[in-house]
Amino acid sequence: MRRIVVIGAGVGGLTAALALATRGLTVVVVEQAGVPGGKMRELEVDGRRLDGGPTVLTMKWVLDEIFADAGTALAEHVTVRPLDHLARHAWSMDERLDLFADVERSAEAIGDFAGPAEARRYRGFCAWTQQIYQTLETPFLRSPQPSLMKLIGAQPARNLRRLWALTPFSSTWRALGRYFHDPRLRQLFGRYATYCGSSPFLAPATLMLIAHVEQCGVWIVEGGMHRLAEALARVATARGARLRYATAAKEIVVVDGRAAGVTLATGERLDADAVIVTADVAAVAAGRFGRTVAGVVSPVRHSQRSLSAITWAMVAECEGFPLVRHNVFFSPDYAAEFQDLFGRGRLPTAPTIYVCAQDRTETTAAGRDSPERLFCLVNAPAIGDRHAITARELDQCERCTFGHLERCGLHIQRHATTVTTPSDFERMFPATGGALYGRSSHGWLASFRRPGSGTRMAGLYLAGGSTHPGAGVPTAALSGRSAAASLLADFASTGHFGRAAMRGGMSTH
Ligand SMILES: Cc1cc2nc3c(=O)[nH]c(=O)nc-3n(C[C@H](O)[C@H](O)[C@H](O)COP(=O)(O)OP(=O)(O)OC[C@H]3O[C@@H](n4cnc5c(N)ncnc54)[C@H](O)[C@@H]3O)c2cc1C
Repeated sequence: MRRIVVIGAGVGGLTAALALATRGLTVVVVEQAGVPGGKMRELEVDGRRLDGGPTVLTMKWVLDEIFADAGTALAEHVTVRPLDHLARHAWSMDERLDLFADVERSAEAIGDFAGPAEARRYRGFCAWTQQIYQTLETPFLRSPQPSLMKLIGAQPARNLRRLWALTPFSSTWRALGRYFHDPRLRQLFGRYATYCGSSPFLAPATLMLIAHVEQCGVWIVEGGMHRLAEALARVATARGARLRYATAAKEIVVVDGRAAGVTLATGERLDADAVIVTADVAAVAAGRFGRTVAGVVSPVRHSQRSLSAITWAMVAECEGFPLVRHNVFFSPDYAAEFQDLFGRGRLPTAPTIYVCAQDRTETTAAGRDSPERLFCLVNAPAIGDRHAITARELDQCERCTFGHLERCGLHIQRHATTVTTPSDFERMFPATGGALYGRSSHGWLASFRRPGSGTRMAGLYLAGGSTHPGAGVPTAALSGRSAAASLLADFASTGHFGRAAMRGGMSTH
């Protein structure tokens, strides 16, 4: 019986554990926190629970496949509902634009907001982002370890022209200028780069595939995203995995050049035939799991870190602005915001603000509970290991944030708040400085610099949002599945394990 230790019970670790336990391997997951989920965490504020991590679920098909692969169905464990109304965007009291799941409805709204020519260009933009997605889904997103050469090699000759047409060398911002003449629309769609913690001014245009991903559907998980983590943990346990919470891994044991187990902070040693690390790869490179394994990944320099955040999880009363579930209030100076974040490494003086009104859905916008649950986020530099934000800095950031919401018409009266800063994120996700999305996706080669699931060390595998294909709930889940598939393939090729095939992943035949 093969024994596997998985470090971390975030979505990547849980997915890997589920896939391996389903195939009969002995799996132990060690998680330093008291509950599963990692970044997909839940907070309790004023006696009410709310999501304090991801709030937008996309690419539901990934989770459908993962649960189906484990012989069950997502719908048996959580209730998810698609949103018609993707988000409400605001620039001031009277500049508002809604986007919808239906492209034509969005085009109409854009026409009313910025004129018919922009609506026409928006349709062209949707066709372009769809093309990016379709070109990259199989050879990049679904591949466990893509490289530029493999990507080019996978294309029939005629598609190389298509690949070139995706403008991979252009920045997101520059490419958006070809589609949108209204700076507000360029800003709105440029924001997708921040979904992987990057600046639209530095990220490659190909990241705009995220716009298509959202266009394909945004779902709400009833009861909060954390229910998804609980469901993955429950099914993994039912398939035989053992989940050990409040259990920190201290060192990966290496015997004869092969990962052979994990030593816990308590000194206990868990022997294993393979180890999957789903903590941020920056922690591996920084030697947090021992010097011997540090060299298996390249270090992540401070300048390469993705964004962190300051978040306010609140129970509050709101007036003035008709919030929907997802709301974005844009900075009046986007270039200055990213110059602050990445250039100067400081909190922006005029941040873009995301507000998730977690009690509101299309059917509950009116007549909702008051006070209600709000999750508010502004991007912050990942400096949590070098600089603890002072009370004065936090106060100034709050004044800028809530002042801008007021100017846009949203008056929030807070009953209770839990604030999380980059230093808090650094404590939860060590050696990251609070970076929430691994390495930033700056420059056209950045996506190929994320490590894949296999490493140079036999028996050591990586997964999670800092590995390929990158941060996000579905993508971290894809990475967990890839790690499981790579491990099974290696076991099969060395004859230590019977043949098995993983749906959607690599076959071990
Ligand atoms: C505020 C916020 C908002 C976000 N919004 C969205 C969104 O709307 N949509 C979306 O798709 N994504 C979003 N994301 C990103 C998404 O949440 C993450 O990319 C994804 O959840 C990461 O999963 P992961 O597998 O990398 O694991 P993580 O969640 O990073 O979990 C890793 C786990 O490893 C554990 N660990 C680390 N070191 C050790 C150790 N030594 N021993 C034991 N355990 C250890 C940690 O405690 C943690 O539980 C958001 C993230 C944040 C923080």
